[in-house]
Amino acid sequence: MSLRGEGVWAAPGRVNLIGEHTDYNEGFVMPFALPHTTVATVARRDDGVLRLTSADMPGGAVELHVDELAPGGPAGWTDYPAGVVWALREARHAVSGADIHYESTVPTGAGLSSSAALEVVTALALNDLYELGLERWRLARLCQRAENVYVGAPTGIMDQTAAACCTEGHALYLDTRDLSQRQIPFDLAAHGLELLVVDTRVEHAHSDGEYGKRRAGCEAGAAALGVEALRDVPYDGLDQALARLEDPEVRPLVRHIVTENHRVERVIAHLEAGEVRAVGPVLTEGHASLRDDFRISCPELDLVVESALAAGALGARMTGGGFGGSAIVLTETSRAPTVATSVLAAFETTFLQGPRVFTAIPSAGARRLS
Ligand code: ADP
Ligand code: MG
Repeated sequence: MSLRGEGVWAAPGRVNLIGEHTDYNEGFVMPFALPHTTVATVARRDDGVLRLTSADMPGGAVELHVDELAPGGPAGWTDYPAGVVWALREARHAVSGADIHYESTVPTGAGLSSSAALEVVTALALNDLYELGLERWRLARLCQRAENVYVGAPTGIMDQTAAACCTEGHALYLDTRDLSQRQIPFDLAAHGLELLVVDTRVEHAHSDGEYGKRRAGCEAGAAALGVEALRDVPYDGLDQALARLEDPEVRPLVRHIVTENHRVERVIAHLEAGEVRAVGPVLTEGHASLRDDFRISCPELDLVVESALAAGALGARMTGGGFGGSAIVLTETSRAPTVATSVLAAFETTFLQGPRVFTAIPSAGARRLS
């Protein structure tokens, strides 16, 4: 039995099934949780000390004082949990310290959101230990604030909500404008299907700057069209909207966001009708849009998609921020080994380093283990 004042919590990494770069346009996303988790063993303490260790990071324990936490300090992995404590305290939740040890199976920097897993496991543990009574969507918001303000990474709300709110056997439909959400059945094994994640293990150096440019381009598009966010451009009004946009750089960005929101709705319709195979072509369409209109793919991601489709996959697309990271591939279970082998072989002949391939099973969100 665990002592009062301590315990063990877990929060998962995530994959976004569809809805890419829509979150900062107040649109729709559809992530699901991975079986890979970040586990935190946490003990409450009341002397104001936050003591952090991670089995995945060299350097031993880092001790901080909760009163002294402020954005803009020296960058490092402890910014993520320290940022969560800072965000909780800034929202007037009395957190007076903790000993936290992390151990994770979520690959870092692979676009599978190890950062949100780290934040959300911290927030949930402190919420329980300090009996804060915060709802999960609220914890996700505070974690996003930690990442945006304390860590200084301008990310949307998807990753933290996925880690906090996903449930086993489902994808999470999230409207990033009002944060309303719905669990969508996504039990692939029951349909004889498998979703492979292919982590290319590359990250092109310019990705941060390009992300900022896409964000700015989307904002310029919304301003030119006189809407609050591109989410407000209806799919059946897309042609008229594009005709009103003069900037040739902005037009394809708008087209991606509007068609991508529509793809999320199509995927939901297919899944709710039990037509899981029909999701495949929508994923592939999404990849073409990210490659040609949003222009955030890269040769490695394109190769994964092309070689998977050539080997008989039902659909494939890059997922995450782009310029590296991971792709997802939907395939018949019977075909999965052939598809995986073909992707690896194609990579081997073209690039030096091989990707990492694993099967993604839609899993539970953050939870207390003991
Ligand atoms: P992603 O979220 O896609 O994995 P990020 O760059 O957003 O990539 O976050 C990765 C960073 O999060 C790591 O560089 C590290 O600072 C921190 N991090 C993630 N998991 C852990 C962990 N288990 N222990 C310590 N730090 C971690
Ligand atoms: Mg991250």
